[in-house]
Amino acid sequence: MNSSEVSPTREKMPESNPPQSSDFIREIIKQDLIEGKNNGKVMTRFPPEPNGYLHIGHAKSICLNFGIARDYNGLCNLRFDDTNPEKEDVEYVDSIMEDVKWLGFDWENRLYFASDYFEQLYQYAVELIKLGKAYVCDLTPDEIRDTRGTLTEPGKESPYRSRTLEENLNLFQRMRQGEFPDGSKSLRAKINMSSPNLNMRDPVLYRIRRVEHHRTGNKWCIYPMYDYAHPLSDAIEGITHSICTLEFENHRPLYDWFLNTLKTNSCPRQIEFARLNLTYTVLSKRRLIELVQSNFVDGWDDPRMPTLAGLRRRGYTPLAIRNFCAAIGVAKSDSIVEIENLEHYLREDLNNKALRVMAVLKPLKVILDNYPEDKTEELDAENNPEDFSAGTRKIPFSRVLYIEQEDFREAPPKGFFRLSPGKEVRLKHAYYIKCEKVIKDEKTGEIRELRCTYDPNSRGGWTQDGRKVMGTLHWVSVPHAGEAEVRLYDRLFLKPDPNDVTEGQDYKTNLNPNSVKILTGCKIEPGLMDAKPGTPYQFLRQGYFCLDYRCSTPEKLVFNQTINLKDTWGKIEKFQKNGRKDQK
Ligand code: ATP
Ligand code: MG
Repeated sequence: MNSSEVSPTREKMPESNPPQSSDFIREIIKQDLIEGKNNGKVMTRFPPEPNGYLHIGHAKSICLNFGIARDYNGLCNLRFDDTNPEKEDVEYVDSIMEDVKWLGFDWENRLYFASDYFEQLYQYAVELIKLGKAYVCDLTPDEIRDTRGTLTEPGKESPYRSRTLEENLNLFQRMRQGEFPDGSKSLRAKINMSSPNLNMRDPVLYRIRRVEHHRTGNKWCIYPMYDYAHPLSDAIEGITHSICTLEFENHRPLYDWFLNTLKTNSCPRQIEFARLNLTYTVLSKRRLIELVQSNFVDGWDDPRMPTLAGLRRRGYTPLAIRNFCAAIGVAKSDSIVEIENLEHYLREDLNNKALRVMAVLKPLKVILDNYPEDKTEELDAENNPEDFSAGTRKIPFSRVLYIEQEDFREAPPKGFFRLSPGKEVRLKHAYYIKCEKVIKDEKTGEIRELRCTYDPNSRGGWTQDGRKVMGTLHWVSVPHAGEAEVRLYDRLFLKPDPNDVTEGQDYKTNLNPNSVKILTGCKIEPGLMDAKPGTPYQFLRQGYFCLDYRCSTPEKLVFNQTINLKDTWGKIEKFQKNGRKDQK
């Protein structure tokens, strides 16, 4: 291997699915299987609406739906719930498919769109009319809202509720044919205007909207409502367990009403679970769209975004996200998960996979006065101490080096074990060096370079006389170094609950103005010049980084900080365990 290789293309470690402990949904499914329901079949679906990019909350739902199918020998469909064309777009469809695949799940040939069922859904509506269970209503959307009643008061029946079957069939057909203006009529279910459940008070099934649909074009000017389309799409696909988030709990009677009234062949069961909330994070699509469209972030895949596209660009791995989702489990009541939890699973996976390399983010020049001017040595460096199969590489060492500015103090405080005048430290994989002299800019007094000596008998970083040093520094050889821009990230929001604001303000006042810091002129070891997108790196002592595939060009490499290293306490413990207190 030549000196500039970091072996970025080594085989991926095998990735196992996280062991999934049981939860209340899996218990329901097991029981259904014991009772022989659905002929022993398990069929789930992940039903995104293509009106935004997927985020970490969706990952929970994806892992749950696809995971259940995997665990019970079932199947999981990907179905786009595309019944609301104003807000939907093919860009979102494409990104959702990419993200589900990236997360590690496969819908095989079961890619569906609710819009593919528009004709069938229309026929179901005709059937409801014929059953006397639906009617065309001329009230405006505002009037419908105003007559709906409240939790304590019943709603008012629409004056159009008693239209004849023929009249309803005729009007509904003419709605479809485009005879009426938008919003002038709707089709409503005829259920019960005094039901204690507001969702049962003659909900709207179809509205008139002259909007082009990203798949059906201008074929339709009436579009079905989510509450109507969803149970029937589930039934059409033979879904057995329709898993959704808690806010749909009181929609369940309506879900069941459609299936029972229409006597569909299959009868899916809706089960609700608590959505994922994360500290320091917003997961509402409306807000994420606002952050993107008002340029608070740099697009859907901004590395600070909780979208799967953003997390991927930041350097998150699919396994880390799946392990996180498995660990948080599934519950019936809402809670907030601490983001440190997600970061734990990220570090765990990166620790196993990341190639260890050296990069100096804020360089300070070091000249080794007793090292020959024209000499270059190729030193051995391990690529990953957690994974010996990752092998070793050669890194060039020469007389002029960069170290981190922070690793030198002219007047070191107590407990500072890095470099200072007269002190000796180890350069990782290389030699012991000792600081002899500090060269400053005469005018500004700024430190320009350090003059040091090296101990030729300490190659590899260990002396023959057993002399110990307290600090080990990372470094890069000046004539061999590559240059890069490095972007450091902090949380996008300052408060654990971004919605915690004083009156009159909104969540945006909690945006962290310093959530990204751009460092230019960083020095990287030569092998990193060939860094590949998607390969995780650990910049020794700095954290985990990855190549930014959006902004990097062959002329200018850009690295994103994925996450910092473990807290120092963890580090100290580890070194104590290994009896190597000399590392710092
Ligand atoms: P909206 O319906 O307001 O557009 P949504 O976040 O519910 O937003 P969908 O595209 O409908 O978006 O979501 C697809 C699936 O993902 C749904 O089954 C939904 O319940 C689930 N889901 C969405 N957000 C979360 C979350 N934070 N945690 C777990 N599951 C979620
Ligand atoms: Mg939704």
